[in-house]
Amino acid sequence: MILSILLSGIISFGGVEYDPDIHELMGEVNSDTLWANLASLSGEVSVTIEGEPDSLPCRFALSEGSDRAALWLAEQFEARGFTVELVPFFPHWLSETRPLPLGVENAEALEAIYINAQSSIGSDTMYNVVATLPGKDSLQVILCAHYDAITSTMWTYTPGADDNASGVMGVLEAARIMGEHNWQHTLRFVLFSGEELGLWGSEAYVKDAVEAGDSMIAALNMDMIAYNSDALPDMDIHCNPYDQASQDMGQMLIELIDIYELDIVPDRHIFDATDRSDHYWFWQYNIPAALLIEDFDDFNPFFHTTNDRLGRLDSAYMREAVRLALGWAASEAGLVEEPGIEERIVDSQNLVSFRLSADVIRYGAWLEIRSPHAITPAIYDAAGRRVKTLETIQGSLGSVRIPLEVSDLPRGVYWITVSGKESLVSERFVLVR
Ligand SMILES: [Zn+2]
Repeated sequence: MILSILLSGIISFGGVEYDPDIHELMGEVNSDTLWANLASLSGEVSVTIEGEPDSLPCRFALSEGSDRAALWLAEQFEARGFTVELVPFFPHWLSETRPLPLGVENAEALEAIYINAQSSIGSDTMYNVVATLPGKDSLQVILCAHYDAITSTMWTYTPGADDNASGVMGVLEAARIMGEHNWQHTLRFVLFSGEELGLWGSEAYVKDAVEAGDSMIAALNMDMIAYNSDALPDMDIHCNPYDQASQDMGQMLIELIDIYELDIVPDRHIFDATDRSDHYWFWQYNIPAALLIEDFDDFNPFFHTTNDRLGRLDSAYMREAVRLALGWAASEAGLVEEPGIEERIVDSQNLVSFRLSADVIRYGAWLEIRSPHAITPAIYDAAGRRVKTLETIQGSLGSVRIPLEVSDLPRGVYWITVSGKESLVSERFVLVR
């Protein structure tokens, strides 16, 4: 028994390697973008939907407001260049047992809510918002969150800033950043409705996806990632107690926190894991999935009330959670080198080559150089003036990675040159701040 525990510990240890490209993407997670979108979805500020001014005070799944929220979310994905689908589904709550929504005592109480909803709006259609970023293959990595919300005033006001506009913003922000790159596997960014009524949207989604033959590698569900009253960066990761792959995923998240030095203290839950959110339906179909959620020991007391508002949330805490989710999705999906940053052979005869980590540089970049003899890279501005000479790099058989320190340069267009024995090749990059 002890031996097998030791072995499984060894096997799952150290599975993730540091990748500077992924680190750079994680650095692009922007608190201001997160915050502004959070204010929009939780009804704090007005929004534009289909070109008209609007606002989103109510996201109760069966209300008209939630349909408008779905439209607004779809437009956010579209603005980021995604093809997005609003996939309608209908609750089939009588079909089988499922976890009841919090605060709903039994199936009869749920039925009453449902019948009331039908008579109030005359429709029971809800929508999942599904954005896809096709990869080189069709294996899918999924980031998901529910966008519906609930309060005692569910037909008029459900700000749900933490529960769960926060998780939705995590999905949107990861999509914004990942959408600018190419990936080995396909990425699915999925926003569910009907979660608060008993995980209806995720049930419909996962059932349909399994029936359609989708190959889902893993799913990370974010539900409430922004409340932190004690200033301790604790976060919970819930894994399927019956699935080793889900537990390995939890371990991977912990390693990512360590490798990328995120300000999160993780607590992995396995045998006391909660199934009260959309990861449940992935678990039901044996798809590795985990829930990322704020510390249960510092739980949001305004949960499911009209006080679950932006002003009570912690933007830095939320940013770290989103960085983790993005780092996980990027590590799983596999960044594919883009044409713009492919290795350039400068001097094939002498095997000199270099690679710039990005052609749009925001926080610095690195240069990977392979050269058997000493070379001196230099940076020129758009007018052709040499503005910087980098340190001479001694020749070596392997590759040498050096940081490209550009923080002293103003923003603009530059060229970096690396000269071989008989040739000189330059590459353009844009420095933004
Ligand atoms: Zn929730």
